[in-house]
Amino acid sequence: MVENLVIIGSGPAGYTAAIYAGRANLKPLVFEGFQAGGIPGGQLMTTTEVENFPGFPEGIQGPELMHRTRAQAERWGAEIITEDVVSVDLSKRPFAIKSETLEVQAHSIIIATGATAKRLNLPGEEEFWNKGISACAICDGTIPLFRNAELAIIGGGDTAAEEAVYLTKYGSRVHMLVRRDQMRASKAMQDRVLRHSKIKVHWNTAPLAVYGDEVIKGVKIQNTQSGEVSELPIRGLFYAVGHTPNTSLFKGQIALDEVGYIITAGKSVETNIEGVFAAGDVQDHEYRQAVTAAGTGCMAALLAERWLSAQGLLKEEHQAAPQTEQAPAKPPAEKTQPQTSVLAPANFSLDDTFFEGGYALRKLYHESSKLIMVKYTAPQCGPCHMLKPILHTVSSEFEGKFHAVDIDIEAEPEMAEATGVTGTPTVMFFKHKEMVERLVGVKSKKDYQAIILKHL
Ligand SMILES: Cc1cc2nc3c(=O)[nH]c(=O)nc-3n(C[C@H](O)[C@H](O)[C@H](O)COP(=O)(O)OP(=O)(O)OC[C@H]3O[C@@H](n4cnc5c(N)ncnc54)[C@H](O)[C@@H]3O)c2cc1C
Repeated sequence: MVENLVIIGSGPAGYTAAIYAGRANLKPLVFEGFQAGGIPGGQLMTTTEVENFPGFPEGIQGPELMHRTRAQAERWGAEIITEDVVSVDLSKRPFAIKSETLEVQAHSIIIATGATAKRLNLPGEEEFWNKGISACAICDGTIPLFRNAELAIIGGGDTAAEEAVYLTKYGSRVHMLVRRDQMRASKAMQDRVLRHSKIKVHWNTAPLAVYGDEVIKGVKIQNTQSGEVSELPIRGLFYAVGHTPNTSLFKGQIALDEVGYIITAGKSVETNIEGVFAAGDVQDHEYRQAVTAAGTGCMAALLAERWLSAQGLLKEEHQAAPQTEQAPAKPPAEKTQPQTSVLAPANFSLDDTFFEGGYALRKLYHESSKLIMVKYTAPQCGPCHMLKPILHTVSSEFEGKFHAVDIDIEAEPEMAEATGVTGTPTVMFFKHKEMVERLVGVKSKKDYQAIILKHL
């Protein structure tokens, strides 16, 4: 079977394209990704308040906006697969698309793979990644390691400025390392940074290396004018140094510019290959906004439909009209909350599988001989929202055989401190009062299943 349209990537561009294509009866197949190039839902999953997306006068949380957009796409018939596309062949028609478990053919493709935060490859960076270094202040700023600590952020653009201000909620002081004698951030953001009593801007300053022991202790910096090298003692280092477009899959197959952005024709979203369209940050190095990504997603879907019609390839998949009075979409995390969670001491039973909070964890740790899986998350961490349904599916398979405990590190920072959690989400496994495994970030279902099976 050949699909009308495959959409590669999620985020505002991919999901919006899916809504439009779904409404046009194309029944689009969406590969929303898993780990490649970010997380399903895209960059907004890593932010808090989105204040500039039309229709939300009070603002909306980034993850909620994306969950709602995704639900809207599904409501209009989009089929969404939570896997990375690992290869495409654009040299033959229909096009061939391979994910981890599927191989499909499609007459047309929309590429909406977005962009990924850059790293600097400093000495010490790999060693201290997730041990004090983070590329997402919004996700990790809340962890205990950074509370009342000296923090630094590298970069001088809008993201760096926004995140510097955000980090002042947690750190005692935020050092902003700016390579030049001026910032690229908008005037309004610069003003907020320069007026903030807890932010110190280090102009003409480049990071040279990161040092520490178990966790980061500081960053070696150099004044780019005088050449002077010094050490800046900090407990947290945040990268905000720009993005790389997620186009490695398409290299050599489609026209890219010198940075790697997909080249689209004029103000259109057409690429140099007929039937292949590109939307969002993967083709836009100028605006890079949720609303422009959504706008180009819409354009791509409309053009794909026109192109399929003109070629006589369009196969309409009519669907029953969606319910008009649906309840508003809820993030999957909320839909999949275990019903048997145990919070209060009165309810506590060692026979239960799902628990919440430090009281339960302490009791299980001392009294249960079963494997305990502990998920440390923070409410504003986008990847944590993605992890919840994955872990709940895995946990349900082993119900009764082990314990799964949720810890919100914002509500109980001492629980994270006690186990040395340095980033969210972190999943730790304990058995017989010992930690047997630790996974930082979102991993595949198979990884969690393998660990549980190994230690049951
Ligand atoms: C911290 C932060 C705050 C921001 N705040 C705002 C704001 O307030 N307002 C605003 O308008 N914009 C904001 N932005 C910018 C906005 O998030 C981006 O412009 C927008 O998300 C781009 O959307 P996109 O759909 O092009 O791609 P992305 O959001 O980058 O999403 C692309 C997704 O595609 C998927 N993908 C990648 N490779 C593959 C593959 N091989 N197979 C399958 N899937 C794949 C990944 O899951 C990836 O996450 C912010 C960005 C950041 C980082």
